Amino acid sequence: MFADYHIHSNFSCDSNTPMEDYIKQAIKINLDEICITDHTDVGNNGCVICDYENYFKEIKRLKEKYANKISIKQGMEFGMQAHHKDYFENIFNKYPFDFIIMSFHLVEDKDLWDRSFQHGKTQAQYNQRYYEEIYNTINVYNKYSVLGHLDLIRRYDDFGEYPFKKSKEIIEKILTHIIENQKGIELNTSSFRYGLKDLMPSKDILKFYKELNGEIITIGSDSHNTKYLGYKIKDMQEFLKSIGYKYFATFDKMKPIFHKL
Ligand SMILES: [Zn+2]
Ligand SMILES: [Zn+2]
Repeated sequence: MFADYHIHSNFSCDSNTPMEDYIKQAIKINLDEICITDHTDVGNNGCVICDYENYFKEIKRLKEKYANKISIKQGMEFGMQAHHKDYFENIFNKYPFDFIIMSFHLVEDKDLWDRSFQHGKTQAQYNQRYYEEIYNTINVYNKYSVLGHLDLIRRYDDFGEYPFKKSKEIIEKILTHIIENQKGIELNTSSFRYGLKDLMPSKDILKFYKELNGEIITIGSDSHNTKYLGYKIKDMQEFLKSIGYKYFATFDKMKPIFHKL
């Protein structure tokens, strides 16, 4: 099974690629399944809210047009924070999702990528606060499938590698909670494009999740153009197998389907 579970089309404000271009490319590279996961981020002036009606209309059109060539799933990447849960709850209840990636691009309504969240905090403080926001959120909101790029804070850390052991306690609380609630994590292959030294989440986290008996894991390229569609996904299937995973997951109507590695 070759599936890409993290893709942004021009319904996301940071991508110019029409959804149909991905479908054509997916067929070309023999993907069995593709899940479109455009952004909805609330908190940064609302600039990244998806045009929901047309989004689902376009997915439906493509599903019908390419029905005998590829399986297309409808997902979304919710850029979450605990205090915006009602907004997402409403969206979730209104539309028929197969899959939701819950990600944390902002904390305290401040972006991570431009360092406004980290500004004025020590490395220990912003790492701890980032994971606390995730933990607080999963305790009040459960309409999601997997946590996206769980240690995203590492990508935007100007002080260098923050040791896993310092965040281990809060990460354990997060992973234990999601396992108990039949949620999962994703392995996000954008770490290769960004030239990160480690995987995303890190190998430490991937091994720790396995150790805690975590089973639900999806793999996605986080593509913003067709060039990286499917990128490194087969390699990551092999990697997961090498550290003891037996399955990876795809989703249908919010239910995981397991595929042997
Ligand atoms: Zn993201
Ligand atoms: Zn994304």
